[in-house]
Amino acid sequence: MNNLPKTPDTQPDIMDIAAPLAAQLVNESLPKHIDEVIAEIDEKFPQEEGPSLAQLWKYREEVRAKYGLPECGGRWRDPQAYINTMEDFLGREHIDIRAKYEFEPFFNEYPTAGAVTFESSAFRDVTIVASVSSSNNFYGLRKRANYLAHEAVHGMQQKRSPRMPNEIGEREAYYYQMLTPQRIRETDDIFTFIATVIEPYIVGSVELNERMNEKR
Ligand SMILES: [Zn+2]
Repeated sequence: MNNLPKTPDTQPDIMDIAAPLAAQLVNESLPKHIDEVIAEIDEKFPQEEGPSLAQLWKYREEVRAKYGLPECGGRWRDPQAYINTMEDFLGREHIDIRAKYEFEPFFNEYPTAGAVTFESSAFRDVTIVASVSSSNNFYGLRKRANYLAHEAVHGMQQKRSPRMPNEIGEREAYYYQMLTPQRIRETDDIFTFIATVIEPYIVGSVELNERMNEKR
């Protein structure tokens, strides 16, 4: 083929180039629905024991619906947009957000705590304490977005079911925060991510909460 003379007949038609490009653009602007992505993953990695991804996703979306939480999956790319959305959401729910530096003694006592939610009392509303960030510090913004996602679940739990068992509370918070559509689409092995990241985080936070409760 390469040795053929370059006559007009052997020139690629412009449509041969344009058509595949157009197909690619369509695919990029219309990604598969998340349910379809999940069904494909479940087919590829059938679980012998434990829930399927479809079941875990359903649980995560029930948590989100129960508290009326906005989708937090986009926060990695645009943390500021998610922070703004959550500050509005928490304001409407009368959940106070305070800066971490105002609670220095608490975080000195529990150095592994990244953020915290305090129950309401006679003196205050339910209060979320999270790090603040300047608007040009991308990693700081991501950190704040992460903490707001997690603590917003605890804030809503404090308002709606303050006696919820610790482990259920952490499970709700971590699945909302971490089992996002983006994570499902972009993680090669989501079941390993769940087993080695999400579930150990739940255990770690339950232990930390128990230590805090003992001291009260
Ligand atoms: Zn937590």
